Amino acid sequence: MTVSPAPSPGLKAQLLEMHQLARQFGRPVKYMEVCGTHTMAAFRSGLRTLLPESISLLSGPGCPVCVTPADFIDQAVALARLQDVVIVTFGDLLRVPGSRSSLERERAGGAEVRVAYSPLDALAWAAQEPQRRFVFLAIGFETTIPAIAVSVLQAAERRLDNVSFLCALKLMPPALAALLRSPALKLDGLLCPGHVSVMIGPEPYAFLAKSHHLPCVVAGFEPGDMVAGVLMLLRQSCGHRAEVEIQYHRSVKPGGLLRARQLWESVFEPSPSRWRGLGWIPESGLKLRPEFSAWDADRLYPETQVPAAVENPACRCGEVLQALVLPGQCPLFASGCTPEEPQGPCMVSSEGTCAAYYRYGRMASGASAAPERA
Ligand code: SF4
Repeated sequence: MTVSPAPSPGLKAQLLEMHQLARQFGRPVKYMEVCGTHTMAAFRSGLRTLLPESISLLSGPGCPVCVTPADFIDQAVALARLQDVVIVTFGDLLRVPGSRSSLERERAGGAEVRVAYSPLDALAWAAQEPQRRFVFLAIGFETTIPAIAVSVLQAAERRLDNVSFLCALKLMPPALAALLRSPALKLDGLLCPGHVSVMIGPEPYAFLAKSHHLPCVVAGFEPGDMVAGVLMLLRQSCGHRAEVEIQYHRSVKPGGLLRARQLWESVFEPSPSRWRGLGWIPESGLKLRPEFSAWDADRLYPETQVPAAVENPACRCGEVLQALVLPGQCPLFASGCTPEEPQGPCMVSSEGTCAAYYRYGRMASGASAAPERA
């Protein structure tokens, strides 16, 4: 059951202003919370129940597990089947279905798949077990990329030649640009991701305000942050402004963390990347620079290149990630697809939209498969 927070006096005043502005604005507004952590935080705190009826929060493509396409899983499965190869992964990827298998199923069948909390775990295991070959599944956004870059640099410095990285790292701004090209998506503003913005700063979202005339607010993850963020968006909407503002001042600074970006740019270079639902997007991914090719699993194991993935045609994750449908509009939601028996990544991941609606939205609305409002 979702428990709404008891609003603090400051929060109450913000909510009051928000309800007044929503009435003044006079038409429904749709804001997208880009980041999966925002989605989960909004549901977990019961924030959605406090917003005016006319404000809808739509979830975007900000869950790294969810946007990783099925062919990456297929390639990881092919790697797991190789002799002496140990797959090292973050836990959420284990249960994501590929075309015919998942890493969890491979592990049950005898493959060695280890869950790591840091990419450095892969290096530690590689140093301890030099007779085995370790492949780290490098997925994530700008938030995760610096830690993976450090791991690649350390592998190179320590000359660990039995560890490599299968990279599907993704950059958020090009994906937002691609997302907004869809004429079906009608948005009034974006809550931009807080953690990603710590790294890149607010500047890369300027095109959203300038070219798409969309208010943007970089918000934190506490319920109060999100209320303040939505209020800032609504003030912009009411004032017919489109700017990039920072709510999450305690962590996000103009310019972001230059040194972190310089670090990853020394290891990776931009590349096209395939996103679930959004397809191939130019310059939206990172690949290892040629000088680190000795740690590039894609190059080291050409026999694991896979044909185009076969996805469950009933799963609508691709559309959920573009906010074109809500989870309750998927025929499998809560019947064929549950967190216990997930059919798509959006139900697997702890930041997945379908998992959030299942755990919180569905329960709050009396176990209806449909969310409370779109
Ligand atoms: Fe995919 Fe399951 Fe979500 Fe449907 S409910 S879109 S099958 S994850």
